[in-house]
Amino acid sequence: MKLHNTLGRRTEDLVPIEAGHVRMYTCGPTVYNVAHIGNLRTFVFEDVLRRSLLLSGLSVTQVMNLTDVDDKTIRGAAAEGLALNEFTEKYAREFFRDLAILNVQPAEHYPRATDHVPEMIALIETLRERGHTYESDGSVWFRIATFPEYGKLSRIDLTAMRRGDRVADDEYEKEDVKDFALWKSAKPGEPSWRSPFGEGRPGWHIECSAMSMKFLGNRFDLHTGAVDNVFPHHENEIAQSEGATGEPFVDMWLHSEHLIVDGEKMSKSKGNFYTLADVLARRDDPGALRYLFLSVPYRKKLNFTWEGLTGAATAVDRIRSASARLAEVAAAGSSKPGAFDAASRAKTFLAAFRGALEDDLNTPEALGAVFPFLREVNSAIDENTLDAPGADAAGEALRTADQVLGILPAEREVLPAEIEAQIEARTDARRRRDFAEADRIRRDLASRGIVLEDGAAGTRWKKG
Ligand code: AMP
Ligand code: ZN
Repeated sequence: MKLHNTLGRRTEDLVPIEAGHVRMYTCGPTVYNVAHIGNLRTFVFEDVLRRSLLLSGLSVTQVMNLTDVDDKTIRGAAAEGLALNEFTEKYAREFFRDLAILNVQPAEHYPRATDHVPEMIALIETLRERGHTYESDGSVWFRIATFPEYGKLSRIDLTAMRRGDRVADDEYEKEDVKDFALWKSAKPGEPSWRSPFGEGRPGWHIECSAMSMKFLGNRFDLHTGAVDNVFPHHENEIAQSEGATGEPFVDMWLHSEHLIVDGEKMSKSKGNFYTLADVLARRDDPGALRYLFLSVPYRKKLNFTWEGLTGAATAVDRIRSASARLAEVAAAGSSKPGAFDAASRAKTFLAAFRGALEDDLNTPEALGAVFPFLREVNSAIDENTLDAPGADAAGEALRTADQVLGILPAEREVLPAEIEAQIEARTDARRRRDFAEADRIRRDLASRGIVLEDGAAGTRWKKG
């Protein structure tokens, strides 16, 4: 698997530190608001990365933090008159609901910052012992002059930021504009923790260093986020972690580009955002949004439009109906001499599909391999040259690809009563000559492995 490493700006082979096992850390949401679809693009990119690693035969341990204490969460809780944890819990639940709707596979760990303050304090103490910090007014700062490699990830021009400049949006005293807070002294009325440096709360960057190293070790394989995380967040994480351990922190850094609207980054502060609920109100198909995200390489900006979403929905429907047709042909059980060689076509399709993903997650190219394959399979069905074993092989290949795409309906257990009700609805539809609806029901059942047979005694069903 080749991936583009922001550290060094090169596409490199992924060589897991522990053979066959990838450890990755994904910066999670700040739970002060519902996510917008720009945030969700980033989380779906990370899901596609995870699923592609699994498809290529690697095992994955993924950690995603929840930032549940910072200026925004504190302000939000105060505005709603809630305790900080009550306030953040509400948005954490919304976040997990969004991920489930978008068929994002759960990470192995979702640590919350407020559950790991002792680990952060311990890390700050190590940095203090190693001479990387100074204290002023009860806050602790990382002095970047003590970490000569500072800037190696973002290639930021440090000379452009002058020593002694004041940072307008920061209410704390520091010696150098580039220095950043590890620990912020308590302010009246704000949540705070006891520490050897006084009462206060952790800075944002230290939480990711502390929690990633707790769950994944001092050095691990992948660390991801969106491009706006490169500087200062990830640059600061490197300074903290490598400053504390003296070892390399992360082998490969991956960053996805932003989702934009009308040429501007979608963001809460600009007000130009849609939530998942907004999108589903217009088109009730989360698979279409997933597909739209996958149709653009993760390192390119994605311009969100409703037309784009409609196009994605059409493409998703084509994949789903091909899958349902294949299930029907497979269930019919016929074999044909001289049939279309679907098995070998399925193999070349999957090789192209996997190859595209292993080339720095080239999802548009992977999707591009799907349609010629489906076209050939569909025409074989039309020409009656696809037999059951061929349909089986083709369907299996499509389900394998869906391990990354995540757009086919889940194979859920169907209950006889539900099937009987569906058959009745289909018979009704046929009676009123609504053949599209009748067909839809038949295809829906087929995609769940239930095949209908119309006979003189009515419609019967069997498991395909
Ligand atoms: P936040 O909840 O604000 O901490 O953001 C969660 C993640 O979404 C971070 O990795 C951000 O960098 C990312 N993000 C924010 N805006 C966008 C956007 N318009 N497109 C893609 N990712 C974004
Ligand atoms: Zn982070």
